[in-house]
Amino acid sequence: MLNKKTVDDISVNGKRVLVRCDFNVPIKDGKITDETRIVGALPTIKKLINDGGKIILCSHMGKPKGEPVPELSLAPVAERLSQHLGMNVIFAADNEVVGENAKKAVAEMNNGEVVLLQNTRYRKEETKNEENFSKELASLADVFVNDAFGSAHRAHCSTVGVSDYVDVSVAGYLMAKEIKFLGDAVNNPVRPLVAILGGSKVSSKISVINNLLEKVDTLIIGGGMAYTFMVALGYNVGTSLLEADYVEYAKEMMAKAKEKGVKLLIPVDTVVAQEFDNDAASKVVPEGGIEDGWMGLDIGPKTIEIFSEAVKDAKTVVWNGPMGVFEMPNFAKGTNAIASVLAEIDATTIIGGGDSVAAVNQAGLGDKMSHISTGGGASLEYLEGKELPGIACLD
Ligand code: ADP
Ligand code: MG
Repeated sequence: MLNKKTVDDISVNGKRVLVRCDFNVPIKDGKITDETRIVGALPTIKKLINDGGKIILCSHMGKPKGEPVPELSLAPVAERLSQHLGMNVIFAADNEVVGENAKKAVAEMNNGEVVLLQNTRYRKEETKNEENFSKELASLADVFVNDAFGSAHRAHCSTVGVSDYVDVSVAGYLMAKEIKFLGDAVNNPVRPLVAILGGSKVSSKISVINNLLEKVDTLIIGGGMAYTFMVALGYNVGTSLLEADYVEYAKEMMAKAKEKGVKLLIPVDTVVAQEFDNDAASKVVPEGGIEDGWMGLDIGPKTIEIFSEAVKDAKTVVWNGPMGVFEMPNFAKGTNAIASVLAEIDATTIIGGGDSVAAVNQAGLGDKMSHISTGGGASLEYLEGKELPGIACLD
């Protein structure tokens, strides 16, 4: 259920189309080390080329903090894009992003040609969504396409501001896919709907629970998120990750789950170690059994069984946050087990969060999931029920 226009709903022949992409790719020694995001942008770009648009691409990369940082230039992206598209993508190397090079290149464009602007965060106005830079960007274009879901929770000039000064603003294919999967999961899910939360960014994630309890049939809590709930139940968690400020909140959430009839599952056993180290001696303890000096680093075998059973009959699963320290093989079992169950079941499976996606890929199961979300922060805010400014501004 997509109530936003997409590139399929407009005609761009002969028009100048500014496309906000997510080219925030990892670069080492001037070489792009992972092209997933570049490849992901190609369907929208190719569609616009075929439709005869004049395509002007823009993106941020890293955090240059409002000034030109040569290591964060998008020049290498232009080179890779040229190769993928089999045509010359002109790079407008203006430190002010919308400068003489960009203006000249756009003025000289033919239909179906592509120009890439410099890193939008070279401009200090970008992250403050200041009018002047939004207007400069808009002056290059007739149509705005936002295809950068990962930045949609931030109101910046290139994600939101520019839409005020162009005639038409629509979603690209990547954005549309994210809205479709996440939107359906939250607003129109095939049930049972199960959400799995874990990971270590507890304080920034825990507030999603309140909204999820309005939507889900089952909520599973593992990873670093679990210990705050264990403390709320009165258990000792040793030196495990704990958000002491959220213990009260956890109690409220458990009460809310009960009231709503939502099944809320937290681990009943835990793999603990004395050090944050793959080779540290470890053991499995039952709930309440984490002694002082020991930390939980993975869910235990009994918990794996219970969680797997709870997911087995789900028709929609949203997963954000690993079940344990999956980077260490000795504490990856819980995460791998959940990934395997998701890979096997007949359900819509949605993975969000950079580390969760990495974990699923590390298990070799990425292509077994229905949807791998490209924006961790943005997908969480979407699940929290917040309106994302980069989506709200589209027609
Ligand atoms: P995502 O990137 O998927 O949103 P987070 O960034 O919140 O997830 O958390 C991922 C990290 O959480 C991983 O590096 C993982 O090692 C860590 N983690 C998972 N369980 C635990 C735990 N019990 N204790 C400490 N760290 C954990
Ligand atoms: Mg992370």
